[in-house]
Amino acid sequence: MSADDPLAQLLNWLQPAWQRDALCREHPDVNFFPERGESPIPARAICARCTVRTECLQAALDGDELGVWGGTTRQNRDAGELDPPLKITAGTRYTKTERLRIALEMRAAGHNRWKIARTIGSSPAAVKNLLHRHDTAERERLAS
Ligand code: SF4
Repeated sequence: MSADDPLAQLLNWLQPAWQRDALCREHPDVNFFPERGESPIPARAICARCTVRTECLQAALDGDELGVWGGTTRQNRDAGELDPPLKITAGTRYTKTERLRIALEMRAAGHNRWKIARTIGSSPAAVKNLLHRHDTAERERLAS
């Protein structure tokens, strides 16, 4: 279904206006419906800088939805935790890709490397190195 498809246009027109600004639409590779044992942090890190977080959270509450909405998991919403801190939970282990994604999202949201380090269970120096390596690789990629 392409953007020029009449059905796609109709579906786009029928969706609530706030969903057009949903930041998760730009991250189709991130899982907003983590299964048991999978981390919701990568999705929640994206929600943290989404401009329609409030509308999204309300829709999840109204619709009794599953998954990550408005920076909360279903478990958060059931517990009435509607603004849970973005922090690592004991025992959570992240892959290198997840650590980089979380670090990039948190940096974009204005968090410093100390807070990023606490979130991903790393040190501020390691976060600095991680982001530096990423930025260097990006510069080289753009220059080539
Ligand atoms: S708050 Fe999160 S789930 Fe909701 S629209 Fe924004 S990015 Fe998507």
